[in-house]
Amino acid sequence: MTTFKAQPAPLEPFLVDGRWIAPGDRRTFPVVDPASETVLSRVAQATPQDVDDAVAAAARAHEDGRWRGLPVAERSRVLHRIAELIEEHAEELAVLETRDNGKPVERSRADTAMSARTFRHFAGAPARLTGTVVPLDPGHHVYTVPEPVGVAALILPWNFPIMTGCFKLAPALAAGCTVVVKPAEQTPLTMLRVAALCEEAGLPAGVLNVLTGDGEVGAALTAHPGVAKVSFTGSTEVGRLVMGAAAPTVKRLTLELGGKSPNIVFADADLDAAVVTAMRAAFGHSGQMCTAGSRLLVQRSVLAEMEERLADAVRKVPVGNGMDGGITVGPLVSEEQRTQVLSYVEAGVAEGAKLVTGGQVPDRPGYFVEPALFTDVTNSMRIAREEIFGPVLGVIPFEDDDDAVAIGNDTSYGLAAGVWTRDLSRAHRMAARLRAGTVWINTYNIFDPALPFGGFGDSGLGRDLGDDALYSYCERKAVVVAL
Ligand code: NAD
Repeated sequence: MTTFKAQPAPLEPFLVDGRWIAPGDRRTFPVVDPASETVLSRVAQATPQDVDDAVAAAARAHEDGRWRGLPVAERSRVLHRIAELIEEHAEELAVLETRDNGKPVERSRADTAMSARTFRHFAGAPARLTGTVVPLDPGHHVYTVPEPVGVAALILPWNFPIMTGCFKLAPALAAGCTVVVKPAEQTPLTMLRVAALCEEAGLPAGVLNVLTGDGEVGAALTAHPGVAKVSFTGSTEVGRLVMGAAAPTVKRLTLELGGKSPNIVFADADLDAAVVTAMRAAFGHSGQMCTAGSRLLVQRSVLAEMEERLADAVRKVPVGNGMDGGITVGPLVSEEQRTQVLSYVEAGVAEGAKLVTGGQVPDRPGYFVEPALFTDVTNSMRIAREEIFGPVLGVIPFEDDDDAVAIGNDTSYGLAAGVWTRDLSRAHRMAARLRAGTVWINTYNIFDPALPFGGFGDSGLGRDLGDDALYSYCERKAVVVAL
């Protein structure tokens, strides 16, 4: 029987051991529509007892093998069914995501489709999880087998609630793990609906548990001795806390953290395409993307032309309620986030960058900031060094390949980079020299479930997606048999 409800409930229950638990007398907090500032729903702050219960349920489900012990074809069937159910409910999920998070509804549709594709990709993975036979000597038969790591805690950010959730959930389940998911407190709704669809698809009770609440719940999961692995997406600041808290129990870790990605335009590039894509890279989802191309490096010989084109394009970026369609810049997720973005606009001006356009608060309800373009930016300014997570683009000039590499790599992060050039050799040389988990050549923000995604340096540890993610939910066991 389906438990899927598209509409937010006034009080959202969470899921432990196959039971939907009403908030009861737990503390609750509001889930706000950032475009209208109205309260959509309230969710509970899961208690330490809830955390213990959810981890215990997941541990029981791991121990008795109700999921990892199923035939491979049966696990694949359930994962395919989850993908189908996400597709069947795609429009409802996309609308719910936009109401919860504020992002343009087309973006939410794309995120939902990618979520379904991620389940489809990993639905084939149980059969791909093979071991190896290792030739040692004639007296021994030696083989390796991947085994699910155990209980995985999946801690999610607010910027891509359904997609980052499925990026982690699909490979964790494919590997045979049991999980406790903790969505961000600002945007819990779509992950609760995905959990209902997982139940409907036939995932056994206790395999997937979802706890709502703030960072305290995440911290309790991270420190919990019953949790074997934490996969976290969020800020670098909190990622460091997660790493520290995971140390005493030596948890396996995947950390997908922040970025300050360079998008590098050479003079020989297709400038029309570079401008259009630079707009999307910097302002898509109001810049609230870990891969945002927030540093636009432009070769000096085309700087004046590019600045003129960019100023024109930024003034035309459509701003508005994500539900209206055709919008690039919707509201920021919260008042707090807007205050932070505005403080960076002030910092840019104070440090001597030129604010060409935007950076104002329009006179309308919702947490909006007009898309801002800065020129005369140097890479030492705060707006070039710190993740803003808002619609703010800084243009930094460079001279040649070496200069572009030096500026591009002069960051503590290393999540992504873009390179625009018609010179194929230069494109590959740049790809090799840039310290980034993904390098896009003449494109930006292309993702696929088969492609590992993650960063160098302060951008994190390990990878979501691809076989790297799959094996990150496994321990590899070596078996040595004396013949
Ligand atoms: P955040 O770090 O504030 O919160 C992320 C999650 O961690 C939330 O669920 C939060 O409740 C929880 N949390 C907070 N304190 C915790 C603690 N002490 N222990 C455990 N969990 C805790 O991040 P956010 O503001 O939700 O997301 C924005 C950040 O996420 C940006 O920095 C962005 O770059 C990053 N991000 C990275 C990727 C990537 O794949 N690299 C993708 C999306 C977002």
